[in-house]
Parts: sequence; C-alpha cells; structure tokens
Amino acid sequence: MTTGERMPAVFIGHGTPFNALQSNPFTQAWSAFAATLPRPKAILAISAHWYIGATAATAMPRPPTVHDFYGFPKQMYEIDYPAIGSPELVSSLRELVSPVWLESDHGQWGLDHGTWSVLVHMFPEADIPVVQLSIDGRQPPAYHLSLGKRLAPLRDQGVLVMGSGNIVHNLRLMDRSLVGVGPEWAGRYDAMIQRYVRDGDDQALVEYERHPDAELAVPTPDHYLPLLYAVGLRQSDDDCEVIVDGLDLGCVSMTSYQFH
Ligand code: ZN
Repeated sequence: MTTGERMPAVFIGHGTPFNALQSNPFTQAWSAFAATLPRPKAILAISAHWYIGATAATAMPRPPTVHDFYGFPKQMYEIDYPAIGSPELVSSLRELVSPVWLESDHGQWGLDHGTWSVLVHMFPEADIPVVQLSIDGRQPPAYHLSLGKRLAPLRDQGVLVMGSGNIVHNLRLMDRSLVGVGPEWAGRYDAMIQRYVRDGDDQALVEYERHPDAELAVPTPDHYLPLLYAVGLRQSDDDCEVIVDGLDLGCVSMTSYQFH
C-alpha cells in the first residue's frame, strides 16, 4: 500500500495545554504546516504524556479525549477531539515493531493533550483517524530512536507520524509571565539540539543527557523522547525544516521540526 507521496516525519513542541484554545505564533505555525500536507490517511501520535511501562497503542474504535491535567478552567475539560481510531494502523504497527510486543489499549488511555492540543489546530475537523503510541519509559533513548526507524515505512503509506513533546521542558522553573525569552541555558540547549538535528547527528541526540545544561533543560525524559521517533523516521534524502521555534513560559522550548 503506497500513496506515492511520502509524508514528512514531524516533531511538535506542544507546550501548555492552553495552546488548544489559543491562536498564537506557535499554533498558527502548526495550522500553516498542516495546510502544506497531502491529506493523511491516518495520524500516529507519540505524545510525551503517555509515558508508561509498556509499548502500547490505542486500539479502540473511537479513542476518548483524555484531559490529562489538573486545576485548569472548565472549558479545557470540555474540549473534545472526536477522531476515530484505526485498527488497520494498529495492525501495521504490530508488524513493524515486532519482536517488540505491542499492547492494545482498549480502555486505559485515548488521545491526550500532547496530541489533541496540536491536532485541533492542524486538523480541526477531526476527520482523520488517529492512533497514539505510548513511550516505554523503561527503555533507554537508543530504543526510541530504533523504534522510530522501524516506523519509517508508514510514511509511504500516507500516515503522518508526529512526535509531540518539548525539547526544553522544566515545569519547576517555568514563569507564566515570560513569552519568547528565558534563561540562557534554555536557549543554549535548544540551539545545541537544533544543530544536532540539522547535522543528522543521531548519536549526539541519543546522548542528550551528556551536556551540562541537560539537568535543567531535560529534567525528565518524557518530553524529549518523542523527538527521537521523528529523527528515527528521517530518510537520508530528507530536508530538515524548523516549523517554528522559540521559548514559552521561560523554560519550555516550542521548537518543532519536519523532515521531508
Ligand atoms: Zn506536555
């Protein structure tokens, strides 16, 4: 099954859940990017917010909208992203990741805000089937890169594979009054990763913890690892393009990439 047109591989820096309701330079860049795409047959999202002790995929006919945050205004809990699932994509996934065992999620999860806060801007009609793939938090970074590589054939099957996280993500130090500026280490770390991404230096991206700024920039791996899936899906003849970049809340980098 090929469509003749290869989908790009994408990493989106999703930032605060409020982006779902806002129109700002980040969300506008996401919609503008989606407008350049051929219509995907399905979307496979790897969100930082489904970080569990297994490799699993949402396998329900209609994955629920998961509101995976606390203490937000009521309207945030009313957001619904009613995309259907795709059993066909789940079975392709099962074959591609083998011998890794893919758990089928029928009732634990669904589409979390790492996925829907972005898709409400990219595909507001919610008329494209969506499957989420979990991040197995027991595994080292190299595992996630190699799993990403195994997913590469999906790009030729019309599937848009989107990693959704944030390269710099330190909620403890975030400052809601800051937009577009942040501490020096945050900008420096994001720029360093951007160099590695542009250079195709996968090894340096896997060893992201080695840099002295990493302790502050990536205090936990969950928001960084979705980048390794997008990088794994990259082909040697792909161009790398920054969809949007910049810091939000001081300590969250919104840098987003496509490989196409
Ligand atoms: Zn997040």
